[in-house]
Amino acid sequence: MTDAAPEKPVVGVLALQGGFEAHERMLRSLGATTRQVRVPADLEGLDGLVLPGGESTTMTLGVERESLAEPLRALAARGTPILGSCAGLIMLDTDHLGLMDFRAERNAFGRQIRSFESDVDVRGLEGGPVRGIFIRAPWITEHGPGVEILGEVDGHAVAARQADMFAVAFHAELGHDDRIHRLFLSRVAAVAA
Ligand code: GLN
Repeated sequence: MTDAAPEKPVVGVLALQGGFEAHERMLRSLGATTRQVRVPADLEGLDGLVLPGGESTTMTLGVERESLAEPLRALAARGTPILGSCAGLIMLDTDHLGLMDFRAERNAFGRQIRSFESDVDVRGLEGGPVRGIFIRAPWITEHGPGVEILGEVDGHAVAARQADMFAVAFHAELGHDDRIHRLFLSRVAAVAA
C-alpha cells in the first residue's frame, strides 16, 4: 500500500431552517462529507461550516433555542472556514453572530420583486463572472478593514471575505456554477492539512 487516500473533509451545514440541502448536494459533488448541524455537538470535529439561505429571523431564533451562538463563535475563532449565503450572510454580520466585521441590510434589493439573477465578478475566481441568483437578498452596507469586498452589483457589496470566512448575498448553491464552493473547500483543505 502506498499513502492512504486523504480523508474527505467534513463540512457542516446549519440545518435549522432554509436551503441547506442544496448546499449539501453541491459540497458532496465536490468530494466533501456533509453533516447537518442542529445542536452544538454537531459542530465537533468539523473542517468547515456553511450557513445557508432562508430566513434570518427564524434562523436566529433557532440558534438561540439550541444555544448555538457561542459554539459557532468558538468554531470561527479556531479558524474553521465558514461560508454564508444570503440569510447566512446576514447571520455572519455584527448584528447577528458577529463572526465577520460587516453590517448587512436585509431585503436590500426590495422585498419580493427583486429576486433576480445577475453576473457578479468575484475577485479571485477564474473563468468569468458568477451567475448569482438573488432571492430577497441582502447587501453589505459597511465593513471593517479586515473585510475584503470580493464582488458588487450596482455598486453594492454582495460578496466578501475575512480570513477564511466567505459571505455571498446570492444563492451560490443553486445552478451549476460551483466555483464559490470550490473556493471555500480549497480553504477547508488548506486549513485542515
Ligand atoms: N430575506 C431573507 C432574510 O432576511 C434572506 C433571503 C434568503 O436567504 N434567500 O433573512
